[in-house]
Parts: sequence; C-alpha cells; structure tokens
Amino acid sequence: MSYVDEVIAQVVEKNPVQPEFHQAVKEVLESLRVVVEANEEEFRKNALLERLTNPERQIMFRVPWVDDKGQVQVNTGFRVQFNSAIGPYKGGLRFHPSVNLGIIKFLGFEQVFKNSLTGLPIGGGKGGSDFDPKGKSDREIMAFCQSFMTELYRHIGADTDVPAGDIGVGAREIGYLFGQYKRIRNEFVGVLTGKPREFGGSRVRPEATGYGTVYFAQHMLKEKGQDIKGKTVAISGFGNVAWGAAQKLVQLGAKLVTISGPDGYIYDPDGIKLDIVKDIKLGHRGRIKEYAERVPGAEYHEGCKGVWTVPCDIALPCATQNEIDEESAKALVANGCKVVCEGANMPSTPEAIAVYQDNGLLYGPAKAANAGGVAVSGLEMSQNSYRLSWTFEEVDNKLKSIMENIVANSLAAAKEYGHEGDLMLGANAAGFVKVANAMVAQGVL
Ligand code: NDP
Repeated sequence: MSYVDEVIAQVVEKNPVQPEFHQAVKEVLESLRVVVEANEEEFRKNALLERLTNPERQIMFRVPWVDDKGQVQVNTGFRVQFNSAIGPYKGGLRFHPSVNLGIIKFLGFEQVFKNSLTGLPIGGGKGGSDFDPKGKSDREIMAFCQSFMTELYRHIGADTDVPAGDIGVGAREIGYLFGQYKRIRNEFVGVLTGKPREFGGSRVRPEATGYGTVYFAQHMLKEKGQDIKGKTVAISGFGNVAWGAAQKLVQLGAKLVTISGPDGYIYDPDGIKLDIVKDIKLGHRGRIKEYAERVPGAEYHEGCKGVWTVPCDIALPCATQNEIDEESAKALVANGCKVVCEGANMPSTPEAIAVYQDNGLLYGPAKAANAGGVAVSGLEMSQNSYRLSWTFEEVDNKLKSIMENIVANSLAAAKEYGHEGDLMLGANAAGFVKVANAMVAQGVL
C-alpha cells in the first residue's frame, strides 16, 4: 500500500465519527500523492504524514454560563492547536450548534496549509463551541464569551496561539473575548485578531476574506485573459465572508444576483442592492427574506441548495462546508457557470469537485481562495507588534498582492509537479512543502 493510502486508512481508523476530518485529510493527501511519491523514503522515515495529520494539542473544556432567565447552561469549548512549524497557531473560533471535535479538526488541518500559503509566519489551529449565538441577548453572548475565555486564556498568547472569528464569531464576540483575556492576564496584547478598530483591529479585516476571494477569482480570470467586470455571480451565505465578497464584486463591476441563508435564498436578476442588504444585516440583524419584501422583482425561494440553480458565470460559496454536492455542481454547469471560487471552508463535496474538473471549470479551492482573512489577521498581528495602524489602502494593497502571489505560487507548484493549471494540487503542494521542510528541520516533535 502506498504511504498516502496507509496514512489515510490510519486517520479513518483512529479518528472514528469525524467524517469532515477524514474528507479534508483525503482531499489534501490524495492531491499531494505526486509530491509524497517524489520524497517517499524521507517522509516515511520522519513519519511526516502521521505527524501532519495528528494535531500537536487538542483542548476540550466545559463552558458554563447563566442565561437571561437565571438558568445555568453548559456548552463544550474546543481549541485544536494543529501545527506550529512555521509560526504561532492561528485560526478562527466557530460558535455554531453543529460544532464538534471532527469539524474543528478538519478546519484546523486545512488552516495549516492555508496559513503557509499566505507567505506569513503563522501556524495552524482552530477552535469554537457548540454554543448558538442566534437569538441570544447581548448579555448572554457576553456571559458565554467570558466563560469561554476563562478557560481558553491559559492555552493562548500573542506568540503562542492567536484565535480570530469564524461562523458566529464577529467583532462583538471578539470584543468580549478580548476584554476577558485582558482582565485575567492584565495585559493588552494582540492575542486575538478581528478586533474592532478602537482597540487594535486592522482596517480591512472585516472584509478581508470576501475581498480576498474576489481578488483570487479576478486573478484566476486574468490568467485566462478574462475580466471579472460584467460577469454574473451567485453567492451563498449572508455573513461576514459573503458581505465582503458582495461589496468587492459590485466595486469591480460584476453583477451579484443572489444571497442565501440556511432556510432559503434571494434571487434578484437586476443585481442585489447592497444598501438594502446592509440595512437588513448591519442595521437590525434581520433575515434575508425581508429583501424580497422590499425590492420589486426580487424573489425569495425556500431551501438553501436552490441558490446553485440560478444562471451565473461565477459561483462563490461563502456559507459552510459541503454546501455544493454533485447535483448542485451539475446544476451550476448546466446553467453556464465557468468559475467556482470558494469563500467558505470545504464548501464542495469531493463529487462536486470532480464535476468541476470533468467540465473544465476554473476552480479556486478554499484554502487558497479564502486565505485573505487570515492574511489580514497576520497583518493585524504585525500592526499590534509595531503598535501602529496602517491605512485602508495600505492593507488592501497588501491583501491584493498576497492573493495574487497565492495564485502565482499555486500555479507554479502545479506546473512543477506536472499538473499545469490544477490550482487544488498546486495550493496543497505549495502550502505543504514549506511546512514539511520546517518540520524536518526542527527534528522529531
Ligand atoms: P457568518 O456566521 O458570518 O456567516 C455564515 C452565513 O452562512 C450566515 O449568513 C448563515 O446564515 C449562512 N449559512 C449557514 N449555514 C448555511 C447553509 N447551510 N446554507 C446557506 N447559508 C448558510 O460566518 P463567516 O462568513 O465568517 O463564515 C462563512 C464561511 O467562511 C465558513 O465556512 C467559514 O469557515 C469560512 N471562512 C471564514 C473566514 C472569516 O474570516 N470569517 C475566513 C476563512 C473562511 P445564518 O446566520 O442565518 O445561520
């Protein structure tokens, strides 16, 4: 059995009931087969793949908090410190009822390669809780965040592990988490990124993942001699990533025709009006259905998968994992879609990716296409260390050039390993080689 197959089999056997983690490991290792085969003896001797697929540390803890009725509630907190070969652990916190250890491990594993691809000195980690912020009062969110940080603080630090936001964790939650860390440790340091601007947050961080995904799509198209301007785009989600992407698309002259939530999606064939979206999203944290009630000609449809049946040139999944399955991928192709660029983490199932590849779509895989968020988090860490703040243009320009470099480096790696144009293989290989070399150089850890 090949080394890659052996390690995949071990991961499946030793990590039962973690299908998302298995999926992420399979996706990465299978596409790295050609790289591993070229160095098989050395990698085997160093048990490199076994170490790479085993987190350095996995922390699970109880998070008790009191709700507005005086009832004690209990959630589970997680932090998986996956790999620190090239820098302190870095990766977001997700608060969502679906969170479990397997989901955090899949996200942490992907984060290792993504962070390496940015070119910044950051390792990979991920965390979160099965807490559901939806429908909770501000006081309840604060109580939860304070309790969560009361345990987490002992495991993180500005040079050790620097969490950020993810699903369900935005500026409000980061603010409460940061406040509690500062209170317990009595130190004001850049231990979290995605902070509000008033206390060390970077300009462009709220928009960074979405902006970065659009820059990535723009650059992929440019490599093919095409422009994003005038293209029709379908987006899923209505959160942080989708909002950043929507703004950048409209700025660049693309036509955005959808947004979606877990229950349904909006289709506005005339182009989504961002001022209305902003009012619903930021004005009163409303539901997307409201958009169709306010905009003549816009339609609301039940069911989140329908968003992939809308005619479009480009699809940007920005909601959650496995949101595009084989059927949705086929519907995209049938409706003229030529580009899929992933804002969310692992939004396409392996079967969906096969459909993109069989039909010659341009495919920007998540760990490359959504690396803009963590890249600007890295820039936030630098600004915190220097105790200064760069302008919007400075950060945006750095983000744009990081995304362009990721496309260029991934294409170069794909070519080097004989798979010209395969961005999935190229991104995995470019991210992996740096981490692997650092691990070997640091000895048996
Ligand atoms: P948010 O919580 O801000 O937004 C998620 C959005 O997706 C919400 O609008 C949510 O709706 C919607 N949603 C959830 N489940 C579904 C579903 N099954 N179908 C359709 N819509 C759904 O999270 P983010 O924008 O931060 O994260 C989105 C994705 O991007 C995740 O995969 C995350 O890991 C990834 N990502 C995020 C980064 C960041 O910087 N924030 C960085 C890199 C990747 P509702 O609120 O109604 O549940």
